[in-house]
Amino acid sequence: MNLQNEYLLGIYNKVAKKDSTEPEFLQAVGEVLESLEPIVERNPEMEKTGVIERMVEPERTIMFRVSWVDDNGNVQVNRGYRVQFNSAIGPYKGGCRFHPSVNLSVIKFLGFEQTFKNSLTGLPMGGGKGGSDFDPKGKSDNEIMRFCQSFMTELSKHIGADTDVPAGDIGVGAREIGYMFGQYKRLKNEFTGVLTGKGLTYGGSLARKEATGYGLCYFTNEMLKANNNSFEGKTVVISGSGNVAIYACEKAYELGAKVVAMSDSNGYIYDKDGIDLDLMKTIKEVERKRISEYAVRKPGAVYTEGCKGIWTIKCDIALPCATQNELDKDGAEALVKNGCILVAEGANMPSTPEAVNTFLSNGVLFGPAKAANAGGVATSGLEMSQNSMRYSWTFEEVDEKLKGIMKNIFAAAYNASKECGCEGNLVVGANVAGFLKVYDAMKWQGVAY
Ligand code: NDP
Repeated sequence: MNLQNEYLLGIYNKVAKKDSTEPEFLQAVGEVLESLEPIVERNPEMEKTGVIERMVEPERTIMFRVSWVDDNGNVQVNRGYRVQFNSAIGPYKGGCRFHPSVNLSVIKFLGFEQTFKNSLTGLPMGGGKGGSDFDPKGKSDNEIMRFCQSFMTELSKHIGADTDVPAGDIGVGAREIGYMFGQYKRLKNEFTGVLTGKGLTYGGSLARKEATGYGLCYFTNEMLKANNNSFEGKTVVISGSGNVAIYACEKAYELGAKVVAMSDSNGYIYDKDGIDLDLMKTIKEVERKRISEYAVRKPGAVYTEGCKGIWTIKCDIALPCATQNELDKDGAEALVKNGCILVAEGANMPSTPEAVNTFLSNGVLFGPAKAANAGGVATSGLEMSQNSMRYSWTFEEVDEKLKGIMKNIFAAAYNASKECGCEGNLVVGANVAGFLKVYDAMKWQGVAY
């Protein structure tokens, strides 16, 4: 981090002292504050409003016990979280993550980022995030159901269609959302759009499942178009093989590219002929097996243990779609060396700060997460609208709106980068464009005395 502005540095130092045990949160705050330097320098009156000091403190943090009974009759205890970060422009909105690596730092970084991402979509949604250190891997359906019900029993006291609308994230897909929605309805005796990512038979939106991956490719396409280029004929590497990765792969193919590698947390597969997406979907979505299975079934495909090696595969476009800090300086240098022209983030904060600097200083086009992966939450916003109207749009209608939103996000981030004197730096552009709307709303809503 390289903060020069005294006011912003003072804010960062206070957060670093108060939240010294939260490295992911500090990383996210540092990156945003650094981007804000040009506008704070130009608008010294911002300091008097105290808005930025308030933005780095969540409005509310909820931590709770989630106890449940496993299939052997043993009591298990996990920790649940919901961080309601910022409601200046709408009800809190953001997914829930179930993964053993979840802790307060991870949920706070995600909630903080979500605030700016949601602002960028142009829809009225505040920022929040939640989850648990529960590991869904290897659990039976009944165990997943019992955990989700216990998690929702507490969470239901803090959320609502006009208060806070959670959704999915790592480890939380349609199955988990279904169990949580069922429990909310049971407890509250009301059928409202309190969660997004719901099944299509009970209020879900068409194209929500595909939205983050598709949106990532629409955003990438805008980046390419601005540089007189396209997906056509490009070789693509995608990390992860979950919801975001699979639908990014689908859209990249539709736009004329070839995807040659994907991964999970154990390792990666390289298929020089191009990933067989139907096979991948069967293994990951239906059978819920490890990615190594792909190489067993697909002649010519190679599996390598360890996931970081995926960045050494030669490609034109890299789409990290797994998790935070999965792409470090070594990975970034390998991509640059192999002639990669564009990196766009499907996961949240997958590139370390050193990796981002490597891309920017080597002229690699770089699409940061809060802009590039905003298609998921944008479509969740569209699901909320449909629930409120008691009406459903067709797949094509939602997809068309998603395309328009991603185009607008690119334009907003690009224009902001230009106004800040660093044309094309979408890290600065996305942070500034997302920040300004939240700043204005907070300024006008005053401070509670
Ligand atoms: P899923 O749980 O569906 O998939 C996550 C994938 O990432 C799995 O393949 C998982 O493998 C892999 N993975 C997890 N940890 C690592 C690791 N350390 N190294 C390599 N691979 C890893 O999650 P999503 O696809 O929903 O989410 C992926 C990312 O996208 C997250 O950062 C999330 O916050 C972000 N995101 C998701 C949105 C959505 O709509 N779902 C919206 C916006 C952002 P394994 O099975 O081995 O764990």
